[in-house]
Amino acid sequence: MIKCHIVQDLLPSYIDGLLSAETEHDIQQHLQECEACRVLHAKLSTSIDNVNLHVNKKEIDFLKKVRKITTKKVVTGLVVLLLIFALLTYFFAIGSPVSKADLIYTTNVEGDMWQINMELTNGKALLVKTEPIYGEKDSNGVKPVIGVLVKPRELLPSLILESDNTSFMFGSTIDSFNKSGYKVILRLGDSDIVFTSDNYDK
Ligand SMILES: [Zn+2]
Repeated sequence: MIKCHIVQDLLPSYIDGLLSAETEHDIQQHLQECEACRVLHAKLSTSIDNVNLHVNKKEIDFLKKVRKITTKKVVTGLVVLLLIFALLTYFFAIGSPVSKADLIYTTNVEGDMWQINMELTNGKALLVKTEPIYGEKDSNGVKPVIGVLVKPRELLPSLILESDNTSFMFGSTIDSFNKSGYKVILRLGDSDIVFTSDNYDK
């Protein structure tokens, strides 16, 4: 059994529903058994101050709810924006691999240069990235360059790239092909086309 003065101290918080379930239960029990505290409780519950307090609390709850919803909306908005940005980047700047059916390529030898010309036929913009192919480490721990990987990618046509951007030329010296093992790999979405000293001029 809690003492009356403790119950009375707690009554305002009790009325505002700020107490733990356990304490609330104890006070409920006390109120059932104690006339003096019950009277005070009734008085406090109906006082105008208290009515205001309740309204305020409702307002605060409402504001809290609004803030929660707003925060949620802002976060959702940011996520959506990021997604859109990622998609735009993908379509306009990174692109996707080109399939063999969408690319025409021709090769030719001019002087000591070998060239491969690529043209995208599906109306999208062509972006070609090249990177060296490295061989096994030699005795000095250096990885020699033994070829070039040519990676055409297709992008949605955009203002970022120039207007004539469906074709691309890559060149390599004939000397390179004469090095043993040298190759140029044209990496398409569905296959690799490999040019070596055996077939570069065919
Ligand atoms: Zn009491």
